[in-house]
Amino acid sequence: MSYDCIVVGAGPAGSTTAYRLARDGLSVLLLEKEATPRYKACGGGVTARTMDWLDLRLPDHAEDHLLRAVFTFRGKLPITVDLDAPAVYFVRRDTFDLALARQAAQAGVDLRDRTPVLEVRPPADEKEPFVVVTPAGAFAGRFLVGADGANTLVGRTLGLLPREAPARRLDCGSALEAELPLEADSPPGRHPSPWSNTAVIDFGPVNRGYGWIFSKGRRVSAGVAMLAPRAASLRRPLDEFLRAYGLAGIRPALGPRGHLLPRGGKPRRLDAGRALLVGDAARLVDPFTGEGIYYAVKSGALAAAVIAGCRRGDNRSLADYTTVVEREVLPELREAQAVGDLFYPFARAWHQLLRLQPAPLRYLLKAVRGGSDTYSLRGILREFLAKSVQG
Ligand SMILES: Cc1cc2nc3c(=O)[nH]c(=O)nc-3n(C[C@H](O)[C@H](O)[C@H](O)COP(=O)(O)OP(=O)(O)OC[C@H]3O[C@@H](n4cnc5c(N)ncnc54)[C@H](O)[C@@H]3O)c2cc1C
Repeated sequence: MSYDCIVVGAGPAGSTTAYRLARDGLSVLLLEKEATPRYKACGGGVTARTMDWLDLRLPDHAEDHLLRAVFTFRGKLPITVDLDAPAVYFVRRDTFDLALARQAAQAGVDLRDRTPVLEVRPPADEKEPFVVVTPAGAFAGRFLVGADGANTLVGRTLGLLPREAPARRLDCGSALEAELPLEADSPPGRHPSPWSNTAVIDFGPVNRGYGWIFSKGRRVSAGVAMLAPRAASLRRPLDEFLRAYGLAGIRPALGPRGHLLPRGGKPRRLDAGRALLVGDAARLVDPFTGEGIYYAVKSGALAAAVIAGCRRGDNRSLADYTTVVEREVLPELREAQAVGDLFYPFARAWHQLLRLQPAPLRYLLKAVRGGSDTYSLRGILREFLAKSVQG
């Protein structure tokens, strides 16, 4: 069968791209290797600014939202930041991703789960389509979008990433997460969870990273993220982190499961002929916080706009997408890298300083809430100095 566009991977990046293309009148095939709904190892923290790029209301798909962030170091020295409006919504990745995929299907996308792409055959010339091979047969598409996550087969096949390369060479961090049930026997609402509306971020459990606890209603997501390539397992740091918060010994409802964090910020080509990469496949994870869902959704929307423009004959080339991402996404990720480079090697000292003056933490949370759309190292330092001088 033949389509205007084939999108590989039904995570937030792929479903957003597919949905927007279908809305623009293209015929779209969305291929997902797992059975949906599928669990993706993820904290599920979706920043409120993501709604700028979504056609669905995050509160309708979230288990909880963030009104209080508690920053700690090895379970101690808490800094509490209270907010007057949610900065982050906490979703379960199975239900959230399913909602996005269903939205795409309702817009006319041909969504096929349990259909892994095994091989991508690039076109021989301008007239030929891409062909993707799956156990259910081969499909042809004039355009191809690789939304197939950190290990992207599409990106490797098209030569946009090295074909065989360990995570270290691909510049990936990693994270390990488990979802832990709370008071499984009590009916919902009887005993509000102590984590309700709250997130804990602990800068102690790993170097250049942090541990988190995010409230998800009757569950919490607890995990550790390492924002630098790492050979050793994160299992021990996770166990110690859970112990520090009294969560060890709870049998996880899901996980622990780990995955790569393909850090973004470096310019790289994201187009090859009539194909593009989006989301984790395009290496667009914030190298300071590990946030990836916002960038997955945003890059999906940007990619769809460029593809739809090409199809209409707007004198656009898919190479525009690489330029658009460089202009609209990478500056913020480079700022994040600079913040991380300054912060993580001295995390303990910074934490002590932030106890005296937590203004930069509030600034960061407001930035991801939306409105200003960016956060910058300069902004954080300015906030720190201004509030410190005011006393
Ligand atoms: C432990 C952990 C915690 C995290 N916590 C957060 C957080 O709290 N907030 C946040 O913003 N980000 C977080 N991230 C990052 C976030 O999970 C990713 O950035 C995000 O999922 C990227 O979305 P995506 O659509 O690009 O890729 P994915 O969500 O990985 O989706 C890719 C999809 O492609 C499918 N696929 C892969 N190969 C094929 C194939 N050959 N054929 C067909 N389908 C294929 C996969 O099954 C998958 O469904 C976390 C990451 C980890 C590892």
